[in-house]
Amino acid sequence: RSATAAGGVLWGELDQATHRFGLATTGGIVTHTGIAGLTLGGGIGWLMRAHGLTADNLLHAELVTADGGRLTTDDHPRLLWALRGGGGNFGVVTSFRYRLHPVTEVLGGPVLWPLEDAPGLLRHYRDWIAEAPDELTTIVALRKAPPLPALPETLHGRLVCAINSCWCGPPEAGTAVLAPLRSYGRPLADLTGLRPYPEHQALLDPTVPHGWHYYWKSSEVAVLDDDLIDVLVEHTARIASPRSYTLVFQLGGAIARVPEDGTAYPHRNAGHAINIDGAWLPQEPVTDRETAWVRDFFHAVAPHQVGVYVNFLGNEGQERVLAAYGEATYRELARIKRIYDPENVFRHNQNIDPALAPLATARDGS
Ligand SMILES: Cc1cc2nc3c(=O)[nH]c(=O)nc-3n(C[C@H](O)[C@H](O)[C@H](O)COP(=O)(O)OP(=O)(O)OC[C@H]3O[C@@H](n4cnc5c(N)ncnc54)[C@H](O)[C@@H]3O)c2cc1C
Repeated sequence: RSATAAGGVLWGELDQATHRFGLATTGGIVTHTGIAGLTLGGGIGWLMRAHGLTADNLLHAELVTADGGRLTTDDHPRLLWALRGGGGNFGVVTSFRYRLHPVTEVLGGPVLWPLEDAPGLLRHYRDWIAEAPDELTTIVALRKAPPLPALPETLHGRLVCAINSCWCGPPEAGTAVLAPLRSYGRPLADLTGLRPYPEHQALLDPTVPHGWHYYWKSSEVAVLDDDLIDVLVEHTARIASPRSYTLVFQLGGAIARVPEDGTAYPHRNAGHAINIDGAWLPQEPVTDRETAWVRDFFHAVAPHQVGVYVNFLGNEGQERVLAAYGEATYRELARIKRIYDPENVFRHNQNIDPALAPLATARDGS
């Protein structure tokens, strides 16, 4: 029920290795993302509402610190606390040990409706997930339907609201849980199915290949209230690119059962993370069309924002890093940073500035 992986491993590799034993841990939803940065910032993915964040499943880490020393978190419990959300601020992590859970096949996949149906659909979705068991995690995708072989060609390029689900409990129970969603209105396509977990993990890979250009902004919100639903629909209708999209992650469940100060990932009570992602091809002429769409959309979501997930930040400045952690967590991370990296060697990241809080005295465990 545990797996040890080196810092350079990708999610697809870890999932394949644990799947051979019928086990998995919460990982990101794209298989070519690295485990290291994702784990250290928190880690949200399909299994999170049942089994917690990736960081909640991090049992142990080994790292090389700023002074060239080697540490394991066994002797440094507060360092483990900091690595569960505090990012790459404390050293180069060379080894991660994760708690694993029995997961072989999951029931889910995308169901697509026309964007015109989204106002009613998203209200129905909001009420449906309010009662959903933790085995269910959903992600709403708002975009032009991508030209994937799994989708009928007639849909390619059409503005859609897709609700992607992943049920990791017994399949019969999942079928009943998903029924009220799947029977809403007249879906354009329903790709729900029982799939091996690594296959489900790879479903979204073709929508974010390496080599494209991306610009994204992110916010966490408490609930999908009517105003916010209207904002989501209105700004999706203005999407120009067939590659740009917005994802709305459903949080809660096991994430919310960890106390706010239990790890360095503090915003346990946020209901959703919203990622607005403009994407274009490197050979496309440089214009601000996609970035302007992302910014306008982000500003419209801003009144609803309750926080931001640190791994969904770009180069947005110290104020946004503070927004990601909140004052109490940031202060504690700065105290720990002064112990392990007082010169701020590890600063090309979402930086915890060691100069920002009172001086610490002793190393954990020393
Ligand atoms: C296509 C895509 C999909 C994504 N999907 C998700 C998702 O589903 N869930 C989610 O939670 N996040 C997701 N993210 C965000 C993701 O968590 C961050 O981009 C994360 O940094 C990726 O980890 P990485 O190891 O690939 O990072 P890299 O780009 O390699 O590194 C980013 C930073 O992480 C730190 N870091 C990396 N390796 C180490 C190490 N060994 N030791 C110490 N610090 C290190 C460093 O600060 C580094 O600058 C996604 C990102 C992309 C681009």
